[in-house]
Amino acid sequence: MNTEKESAFGFLRAMVFPDRCVFCDDAIEYRSIVCKDCRRAVEPIDGKCCNTCGLPVKECDCKGKSTFYTAMTAVFRYEGVVRKGIHSWKYSDTFRNTGFYAGMIAEKVRNTYADVDFDYIAFVPQTREETDEKGFNQSEELACAVSEELCVPVGDFLVKLYETDRQHSLPLHDKRGNTFGVFDCINTENIRDKKILLIDDVRTSGSTINECAKMLRLYDSGDVYCAVIAAAVPKKGEK
Ligand SMILES: [Zn+2]
Ligand SMILES: [Zn+2]
Repeated sequence: MNTEKESAFGFLRAMVFPDRCVFCDDAIEYRSIVCKDCRRAVEPIDGKCCNTCGLPVKECDCKGKSTFYTAMTAVFRYEGVVRKGIHSWKYSDTFRNTGFYAGMIAEKVRNTYADVDFDYIAFVPQTREETDEKGFNQSEELACAVSEELCVPVGDFLVKLYETDRQHSLPLHDKRGNTFGVFDCINTENIRDKKILLIDDVRTSGSTINECAKMLRLYDSGDVYCAVIAAAVPKKGEK
């Protein structure tokens, strides 16, 4: 299809199914991604960040917590319209926004981990029941899209052994004990000494992604670096 016809078709399509802002879901100009209000409201994380939680050092509350991963980076803070956008992306049956989030993660990884030559991308797994229920694993979808952006293969290394209560429905002090022993590794012969980029959608308490990193390290992976769309900002009193 030539470009002129393609754009005419795209315009007609947009009249019937308008493009929508990835964050607030309002209808927006044809071929836009983020609406003007969200562009003003959403500030990607920038400047010197904490390697444990991915937040700017001034906002971090980690207090030297040790982790099995080497570093964590996040594109956004998990709040406001970002939270809304990620939630509707995860729980809807459309993947039209996966490319946007994966592109943002890839760009962040290129900048933050510029010196790291990754061997594999891994993702936080779900049980088969969870995937059957939802129809997909959003971390896997992200990992595959980031893999295309970065030209690094996805390694199928992690499995989830049983279901846990949804992390976001638990108070923070329960989240930390909720993932212990939940994950295991497969294809372990390919893990040894490999530098791995571990992808998830959101870092809340950090316990899920840390358990995954722990399993990879137990099977002698090289350094594990994490990247998420958004990191939760600690509320006062939640430490
Ligand atoms: Zn918006
Ligand atoms: Zn921190």
